[in-house]
Amino acid sequence: MNKIMSNPLLIRNKLPFFSKIKAEHITPAVGFIIQENKKIIKKLSLLKNPSWDNFVRPLEHCDERLSRVWSQVSHLNAVVSDDNLRKAYNANAIKISQYYSELSQNDKLQSNFLKIRSHLSFKLLNKTRKKIIEDELLNFKLGGVQLAAEKKTQFKKIKSELTKLSSRFQDNVLDSTNSFLFNILDKCQLKGLPSEIIKVARQTASQQKKDGWVFTLDFPSYIPFMQYADSRELREKFYYAYATKASELSTKKFDNTNVINKTLKLRQSQAIILGYANYAEMALETKMAKSSKEIISFLRRLARKAMPYAKKDMQELQKFAANFEISKIEAWDVAYLSEKLKQVKFDFSDNELKKYFPKHKVLSGLFNVIKQLYDLDIQRTKTDVWHRDVEFYEIRNKKHQLVGQFYLDLYARKNKRGGAWMDEAICKHNLEDLVTTPVAFLTCNFSSPTKNKQAYFTHDEVITLFHEFGHGLHHMLTEIEDYSVSGIKGVEWDAVELPSQFMENFCWNWKVIQDMTEHEITKKTLPKSFFNKLVESKNFQSGIQTLRQIEFALFDILLHSGFNPKQSNFLCLLEKVRDEVAIVRPPKWNRFPNSFSHIFAGGYAAGYYSYKWAELLSADAFDLFEEKNIFSKRIGQSFRKEILSRGGSRPALESFMAFRGRKPNIDALLRHSGLIN
Ligand SMILES: [Zn+2]
Repeated sequence: MNKIMSNPLLIRNKLPFFSKIKAEHITPAVGFIIQENKKIIKKLSLLKNPSWDNFVRPLEHCDERLSRVWSQVSHLNAVVSDDNLRKAYNANAIKISQYYSELSQNDKLQSNFLKIRSHLSFKLLNKTRKKIIEDELLNFKLGGVQLAAEKKTQFKKIKSELTKLSSRFQDNVLDSTNSFLFNILDKCQLKGLPSEIIKVARQTASQQKKDGWVFTLDFPSYIPFMQYADSRELREKFYYAYATKASELSTKKFDNTNVINKTLKLRQSQAIILGYANYAEMALETKMAKSSKEIISFLRRLARKAMPYAKKDMQELQKFAANFEISKIEAWDVAYLSEKLKQVKFDFSDNELKKYFPKHKVLSGLFNVIKQLYDLDIQRTKTDVWHRDVEFYEIRNKKHQLVGQFYLDLYARKNKRGGAWMDEAICKHNLEDLVTTPVAFLTCNFSSPTKNKQAYFTHDEVITLFHEFGHGLHHMLTEIEDYSVSGIKGVEWDAVELPSQFMENFCWNWKVIQDMTEHEITKKTLPKSFFNKLVESKNFQSGIQTLRQIEFALFDILLHSGFNPKQSNFLCLLEKVRDEVAIVRPPKWNRFPNSFSHIFAGGYAAGYYSYKWAELLSADAFDLFEEKNIFSKRIGQSFRKEILSRGGSRPALESFMAFRGRKPNIDALLRHSGLIN
C-alpha cells in the first residue's frame, strides 16, 4: 500500500481509527483531498449541461469527503490536543478556510446552479433538492459572487476589513481583561468568600509573584467575588473594572469604541451593496425569523410579560437588602444579594444534590426517556477510541436495525477543550453504494470518577447532558439522505437549539428524576420534598434574568436595523433600550457594548434574540407533551417524524407547524419561566 492509502484519516468504510491517527497524517490527508476535490470541481464548473446527478451530487461528495476527515482532526484537536496536533491543525485550518472561501467565490459554480434552477427538469426535483439548490444560490448571493467587478472588489475589502475588526475587538477584550489585576493585601477584605475561591486567588498571586490574593476579570474569578465578597466598596471597585473593560474609561489602547463604530458602518455598507436595507435584513435571510420587526415585537411582548415579575423580584431583593444595610441596590449588589437570598429561600446546596446523580443512573435514565418516546434501544459497544474514558454506543430500532451511533466523552481532563458540545463524526448520506449510519461526538467536561467512586453529576450537568443529547438525536435520527441538509445541516440557526432545549425539560420531571437518582450512601431516590425545592429554585429571579437577556437582544437587533452610527451614539441607543426594559439600572459609566463579543466578534450580530427564540420553540413543542403525557409514544413519533428527522430539508417553521398544527405561541415559554399566573 502506498503512503496515502494507508493514512488512517483516509480509510472510509468503517468508523474512524482514532488510536492510529497521528499529527503527521493530517497534512497529507487534507492536502490529498483538497487536491482531488479541486480537480473534480474544475471539471464540474465546466459542465455544459449541469444536473442534480452530474453536478450537485458530486459537489456534495467533495464536501462530505473533506468534512469527514476534518471532523476527526478538529475533534482530536479539541479533546486530546498536544503541540504537534495543534500545529498541524492550525496550518490545515487555514488551507480549509481558503478552500471554502474560493468555492463560495466561484462564479462558474454559481452559474451552473442557476442553469439547473432555470431548466425544465428543476420542477421534477423533490422539495428537499429544490431547497438545497436555493440555499446554495442564497450563499453565493450573500458571498457577493454576482456583483459587478468594482462592487465585488469593494465588497471583498469590506469583508476582510470586518474580519480584522472582529479579531481586533476580541483581542482588545482579552488584553483589557488581562491588564487588570485586583490585588488584595488585607485578609479582612476577603470576608464572605468561600475558601476554595480564596485558595485560587492565593495561587494566582504567587504565579504573578505578588503578595496577598489576586482576582482577575475572568469569569471564574470575577463572578464568585461579586456573589460572595462582603465588602461593598470592593465589589463596586471590581464592578467598575469589569463594566468599563475595553472602553475609554480603562486602558485607552484597548478601547473598542472605534472598532464598534467602524464595524457598524461597514456592516451597513455590506448589506447595501447586496441590495438589503440594513444588516439585520441581510442576516435574517438565513434565519427562521422573517424580519427585525417580528423579532422586536417578540422581544417587547416578552418584556411586557416579564416586567411585573421582575419588579416583584426586585422588591423582594430590596426588602432583603435591609438586612445588609443597603438602602438602594446598585449593579454591584445584585449578584451578592441574590446569592444570599437564594440560600435563605431554598436552603440546599448543589453539592448535596449532586450525591443523588451517579453516572450509571443518569445514563440509564436518559436512555429510558429515549426508549419511551421513540422506541429506540441504546446499548454500549466497543470500538477504537482516543482515550480510555470514552464510551461508544449504538442506537437500534424495534427491528434491531442500527439507526445511529455515538461517542460519549464525559469527563474533563488535561488538553481537552472546556464546555460541552455535539459534533458530527459521520453524516447520513446516499453518496456511495450504501446509505451511511450517522455517528455523533458527544463531549462534556464533568468531574471524573475516582479510583473508588464512580462519577456523580450536578443537576446542571445532567441538564447539559440532556441538551447535547438533543443535538445528537437531531443529527442521528435524520431520515434525510441528501447530504447538505441531513441532520442539523441547513437548519436555520435560530431554530437549531429546539431539539436540545426540548430535552432539558425532562430534567424537571419528577418521574424522570425518580428514575435517575440514587443517593451515594443511602441508595435512596431523591425525596419529593427536595425535588420540589429544586423546581421552585428553577425560576428564581426569572423576571430579572429574562429582562436582562431582552436588553441585550433588543439592543443588538435595533443596532443592526436602522441605527446610524454617524447620527447617533450606540451608548445612547443602549440607554434608550434600558429606559424601556431594564429593571436593574446599571450606572452611566457602564460600557457593556465594548465587550459584547457575541455580536462584535462571535457571529451573533442581529442574532442574539436566537436564545429566547429557540427557547420559545422548545417550550411550545414540549407543551404538547405536557398537555397529553410527556411519555406519549404517539407525540414522540410525531416529534421525531416532523422535527428530528427532517433536518434542513424544509424551513424550520414548516417543520414546527407540521408537529404543532399551528404557529409557535409564547404561552409555554412564559409558563416554563414562571412568568404567568
Ligand atoms: Zn446547544
